[in-house]
Amino acid sequence: RLSERLTRVASYVEKGSIVADIGSDHAYLPCYLVHQQIADKAVAGEVAKGPYESARKQVRAEQLQDYITVRFANGLQAIESEDHVDTVTIAGMGGPLIASILDQDIDRLKTVNRLILQPNIHAKAIREWALLNDWKLVAEEILQEDDKIYEILVLERGKMTLSPAELLLGPFLMVDRNDVFRKKWQKESAEWKRILEAIRVAELSKEVQMKKEEIEEKLTIVKEV
Ligand code: SAM
Repeated sequence: RLSERLTRVASYVEKGSIVADIGSDHAYLPCYLVHQQIADKAVAGEVAKGPYESARKQVRAEQLQDYITVRFANGLQAIESEDHVDTVTIAGMGGPLIASILDQDIDRLKTVNRLILQPNIHAKAIREWALLNDWKLVAEEILQEDDKIYEILVLERGKMTLSPAELLLGPFLMVDRNDVFRKKWQKESAEWKRILEAIRVAELSKEVQMKKEEIEEKLTIVKEV
C-alpha cells in the first residue's frame, strides 16, 4: 500500500500523463501511477546505486518494465526528449534540494507542463524558484503522517506574484489554514522564539543581529496570518 503522502502526490497527476519521478527510490510512485492507469508511462530517476537497484527490482517484480524506465541519473538528466514527459514529481526531499534539482537542468523541462513537488522542509525555496522561472502555483496541500508534516506544491507554467507571507506560508495553505498548517507554524514559531531567547542572552554580532531581525519578521507574518 502506498503511503498517504505519496497517494496525495499521485492525486495531482492527471490521467494519461507521462511522468518522471526524480529521486524515485523504490519506484513506488511510478508503479502505483501505472497500475492505477493514471500514468500511461513513467521514468524513475535515481542518483544513488542502492535506491536505483531497488527501483529496478520493484518495476520487474510488478512486471511494469514495458511502462516504466528506470534510469541511473542525476536529477532531471533522467529525462530524455523522446520520453515526452509532461509531468515531473519530486518527493521526500528538502525544498532547497528540490529547487536545485530543477535549476540544474532546467532545459529538460521543455515538454513538461506540471510539477508536483513534495518538500519535507523549506517549501519557500520552491516558491522562490517558481517565481524566478515563470511557474505558478495551482494547488497546495499540507498533511501529517506518522508525526511528520509534509507539503505538496503543484506548479504549472505561468506568472504569479507572492507577498512575503504567501512566499513563506503558501498562498493556498494560508487561506485554508487547516489544523496541520496551524500546528506546523505554531511549532516553527516556538522554535524561533527559543532561538531569539538564545540570541538575547548572547553577545550580538552583526550577523546574528540580522538573523534576529529575519526571524522577528517571520514571526510577525505567521502571527498575523
Ligand atoms: N521519492 C521517494 C519518496 O518520496 O518516498 C524517495 C524519497 S528519498 C528520501 C530521496 C531519494 O532521492 C533518495 O533515494 C536519493 O537517492 C534520491 N536523490 C537525491 N538527490 C537526487 C538527485 N539529484 N537525482 C536523483 N535522485 C536523487
